[in-house]
Amino acid sequence: MTVRWRLSLWYGLMSSLTLVALGFTGYSLSVRQQYLNIDRVLIASARLVESGIRATGRSYALEADTSGPAKDGIVMVLRAYTPDGQLVSRSPSDPGLPATDPHAPLDAPAVPAYYKVLPLPFGGVDDPRANTAFGTLSVNGQRWRRYVIEVTQRGAPLGYVEALTPLERLDSASGLLFRSLLLVTGLSVLAVFLVGWWLAGSLLRPVERMMDSARRITANRDLGQRIHTAERRDEFSRLAGTFNEMLASLQTAWDSQQRFVGDASHELRAPLTVLRGNAQLLRRHPHLDAGERDLMLADIEKDAARMARLVDDLLLLAQSDAGSTLRRSPVSLRATAAEAIRDARRLSAAHTVHLQAPEDAFMVAGEKDRLRQLLLILLDNALKYSPAGTAVTVGIHREGEQTVLTVADQGPGIPAEALPHIFERFYRVDQARTRTSGGAGLGLAIAQWIAGQLGGSLHVAQTGPDGTRFALNLQAMPGSTPPASS
Ligand code: ADP
Repeated sequence: MTVRWRLSLWYGLMSSLTLVALGFTGYSLSVRQQYLNIDRVLIASARLVESGIRATGRSYALEADTSGPAKDGIVMVLRAYTPDGQLVSRSPSDPGLPATDPHAPLDAPAVPAYYKVLPLPFGGVDDPRANTAFGTLSVNGQRWRRYVIEVTQRGAPLGYVEALTPLERLDSASGLLFRSLLLVTGLSVLAVFLVGWWLAGSLLRPVERMMDSARRITANRDLGQRIHTAERRDEFSRLAGTFNEMLASLQTAWDSQQRFVGDASHELRAPLTVLRGNAQLLRRHPHLDAGERDLMLADIEKDAARMARLVDDLLLLAQSDAGSTLRRSPVSLRATAAEAIRDARRLSAAHTVHLQAPEDAFMVAGEKDRLRQLLLILLDNALKYSPAGTAVTVGIHREGEQTVLTVADQGPGIPAEALPHIFERFYRVDQARTRTSGGAGLGLAIAQWIAGQLGGSLHVAQTGPDGTRFALNLQAMPGSTPPASS
């Protein structure tokens, strides 16, 4: 069952129940009250006659019919019987009703008159007097309500007094009221259901639109499309907004993935072309002299090594995208930096590389190989981008709870406009120069990811014509002794 159907049915059901409950309660209360009013008038009229008979032996009320044939709009018939049940007098309003056994209701009192139209045992008029009773007669298919008082004086029976009134008007009015109520309730239920259906439809329209957009996006594979958000700020428009935000982030991820694949292919194509050219040359000229052969084979090896490095970097970045995390354990930053410096010295004999740090292990939480990779990336860059004969200095010091490692070179610095981008993948300040020297623009992206994984941060602390200084901030591990100088 659709949400629209469910909403309409629930709405219809709850409203119908409310309508029926309200209608039924109102109907019951008003109908019961009217029937009980008749009973009360009957009691009052009969008592009037009874008091006359007690006082004078006859009732003027009965004879003159002063209780009125239409008291409160009710036709009232009054009659008096002898103790043995003989009808002796009747009011002028009597239309010729047959004489009845006045004692019968006292033996078998009738149920409240409204039971015929409202069969609920709510109870009738409370009449505390003994020797009185209500009855219901049927004359020519018409109901009459009667009230009988057995009149006695000092234990001696004086006779019976009876008050009667027709119920026809009230019976038919109650029936009409009931049928009207049924009709109005039925129509209202139908109207409520239709309104519910329309309301549910209009409320769910934004969801339909969202589904259409989602279908279109799936069909066209176009993440650039957005869902129309309504003017009003309701839950649906917020949902559409969230959906659009999700689409935007998917699009960004998709675009960067595409760019990444494109850039990676581009980076791999250059060494592959050289490699293929060299291999073809070797095959076409099998009798090349040994010197040239060696040179070509060395080129092939260099390109293969470069591609292997690139593939390693790509793999690492793919792992980082997949949410892979580093396992951290206590590592000495100083020892790791010393190893990285030894590797760096092998990379360039034209530079001097020093370590400037107080005597301390500088323990941090990290993964040793990745920490060393990070330091090598910084050292490699410092060597690559600073002129031969200059010095590269690695420093380690404490700053409060932090251990800071810096790598400073004496190169030309990083242009200000390039600074915001240097940590982006495949970004190189000078495309032509760096490609030939081997950088693919992935080093700093990897270094920053490793720094983040170690719970630290990597940034350019200073750059200018006198050189560049990168700073790696890591949380110092407890047990690491503070600097001796402080
Ligand atoms: P690459 O593989 O090109 O070195 P990186 O991500 O390591 O890529 O560096 C990005 C860019 O930042 C480099 O192309 C370079 O232009 C610049 N850069 C990085 N380190 C330095 C540095 N120490 N001095 C000057 N420029 C640097």
